[in-house]
Amino acid sequence: MPNSMRYCQTCRLQLDKRGFKRHTLSVVHRKGKLIRAMLERNCITHAEIARRIGLTRERVRQLARQMGFADGRSRHAICRMERRRKEMAEFFVEAQRRGFAVEPLGTRSAYINGKLCVQRNACWHDIGKSEHKYAYLSIRQPGGRFDICAWKLPDGRFLILPKKLSGFRQTSFNPEESDRLGTNSTSHYYRDYVERWSLLGRPRRAK
Ligand SMILES: [Zn+2]
Repeated sequence: MPNSMRYCQTCRLQLDKRGFKRHTLSVVHRKGKLIRAMLERNCITHAEIARRIGLTRERVRQLARQMGFADGRSRHAICRMERRRKEMAEFFVEAQRRGFAVEPLGTRSAYINGKLCVQRNACWHDIGKSEHKYAYLSIRQPGGRFDICAWKLPDGRFLILPKKLSGFRQTSFNPEESDRLGTNSTSHYYRDYVERWSLLGRPRRAK
């Protein structure tokens, strides 16, 4: 930097000699660390920072730019993304843990490797009467668009089916091996898709 320029370590701002003197006496300098700390949190808007520090919103916008932060609209978008990430359903949290890049759309839907994935929960459901009563897992087809649906099973595992195998409105299956004839074939088929993470493609990084 040229000799006539000064650099404020606290605010990480570059200023000319005269501006520097003025700067060291300013609100921006005295509250520099606080302003930076707030700008680092994308969910605090420029307006909110302006209100708390006692600057105009335009001044905060200028400072944010000088300090190298994204503009207000981008910070807002990042904030929304961070919030969604925090509220993501378990399937997406687990996908992320396995190294998949998850782009959340809402709490129960996200893009993974360009595929629209949704999560629903499976619930227990009794079939038959008295001594022939058996507990099955019941799953429903999600409404709306999706490429892959993951149902969270009560044991914490996921049944992961592609759209083309989710042609039912509602169906039941037994997640465990059983000796009972008749229902085993379809259950067997669903059991093959429990924890079928490969449907999502390759993770971005190895787990
Ligand atoms: Zn400063």
